[in-house]
Amino acid sequence: MAQPSKTSPMCTIIPPDLLIHISKSDKVSQKARDGANSTLKRCDDVNKIRHAALHSRLSAASKAAGPFDLKAAPKAAAGVSHLSRTIWDCQHRAGLPIDLNHDGIPDTNIQGLPRFRGPKLAAEGHVWKDTDDQSAKNVYEQFKQTYDFFFEVLGRDSIDNHGQKLIGAVHYDEDRQPGFFNAFFFNEVMAYGDGDGEIFRSFTDIIDITAHELTHGVTEATAQLVYENQSGALNESMSDVFGSLVKQYSKVPKQDARSADWLIGRGLFLVPDARALRDMANPGTAHGNTGITGRDRQPRDMDGYRELFPPNSDPVTGNDSGGVHLYSGIPNRAFFLVATTLGGFAWEKAGKIWYNTMLDPKIRGVNPRTAFKTFADLTVKYAEEFGPDAVQAVKDAWTDVKVYPWNPVWMAAGERGEL
Ligand SMILES: [Zn+2]
Repeated sequence: MAQPSKTSPMCTIIPPDLLIHISKSDKVSQKARDGANSTLKRCDDVNKIRHAALHSRLSAASKAAGPFDLKAAPKAAAGVSHLSRTIWDCQHRAGLPIDLNHDGIPDTNIQGLPRFRGPKLAAEGHVWKDTDDQSAKNVYEQFKQTYDFFFEVLGRDSIDNHGQKLIGAVHYDEDRQPGFFNAFFFNEVMAYGDGDGEIFRSFTDIIDITAHELTHGVTEATAQLVYENQSGALNESMSDVFGSLVKQYSKVPKQDARSADWLIGRGLFLVPDARALRDMANPGTAHGNTGITGRDRQPRDMDGYRELFPPNSDPVTGNDSGGVHLYSGIPNRAFFLVATTLGGFAWEKAGKIWYNTMLDPKIRGVNPRTAFKTFADLTVKYAEEFGPDAVQAVKDAWTDVKVYPWNPVWMAAGERGEL
C-alpha cells in the first residue's frame, strides 16, 4: 500500500519548470517575472497545507473504515444525475470561501488555507447573482461538461461516484502582488487565477484545464496513483487523457479521435512561445518556441526516460516529483495511438479501456518505479472486451512508445539522471 501522503501533493495545471522559465525570462515584463515567482511560492505553500491535510484525512479514514473497496462503489445509482455546482468569488484574494462547510465540506479539509466571506456567484438551479461574471459562467458550464462526460460515458456519478459537489472558486489571486498564474484542485475546491493578460489568458477559458484537474480527484478516489516517478506520470497522464476526452465530447458536434487536436491547454497562452501545455500526439513540441516558457522536454518514448531520484516536489529546486509532467507524455502518446488506430470517438473504446484499468485493484498503489508496465499489461487485458483488433492496437501502442518490451535497466541505479 502506498504512503497516503504522496498522492497528488499539489494538482496545479502549470508545471513548476514552466513558471521558473518565465520568472527568469528577459523577454517578458518585470510584472510577469514577479507573477511567476509569487505563483511558485503560493503553490509551494498550498502544497504543504494540502500535504498535511491529506495525510490526516487518509489516516483517519483508514482507521475508521479499513481498505476502500472499489467494487463496492455504486455506479451512478439508477442513472440519476446528481450534478451540483457552486461557484464562489475569491475577489482577487489568496483565499477560499469561508462557509464551504455549509455545502457539506468538512472544515478540516481546508484547515490552514486562508478563507473569507466571498460572494457566491452561482449555485445549481439558482438564479445568477452576477450575470456579468464570465469566469463564473465558464466554470459553471465546464463543471457540467466534465460531469456529463463521466456520467454519460463511464457511468460515474461525479468525482467520488457518490455525487460529490463541484465547487469552483474564481478570481483567485495574490493579496499583495497580483498575478496568480495557475489553477489548482485543492481537495474539494477548484480554484482559478485570472491570468495576467500578457502571457496567460484566464484559466477559466479552457475546458481541458477544468477536466484535467477534476480528473485528479477521480484518480485519487480510484487508482490512487502515488504522485512520483512512473505512477505520478500516469496520474498526470490520466488527467490529460480524460481532459482531452471531455473536450472532444463537449464539442458540438462531438469530435472523433482523428479530428481531435490532442493538445492540453490550447489557447491558454497569449504569447507565440506556446501552442499549448502539452501535445499528446507529439510530446516535446508544445512550447518553448521563443524561449519564454522553456523547451517542452517531454520524451515521446522510453528512450528518453531516466529515473529521477529521489523524487522531490519542491517547486524551485525539485525534480517535479521524479518528472511527473515530463514522462506523462509517454502514456499520453500510447493513448493517442490506440484512440486514433481504432478510430471513431476516442471514449468508446480507448477511453473505456483506460478507465477500466484505473478501477482495477491491481493498479491501486502500484509500484511507482514499474507502474508503466503494470498499467500497460492491464490495458491489454481490458482491450479484450473490444476484440482482437483492440488488443493488437494496445500492444502496438505500448511497443511504439517502447514500454514493450519492458527493460528493467530503467530502474537500475546507473540509469538515474538529472532533470
Ligand atoms: Zn495535473
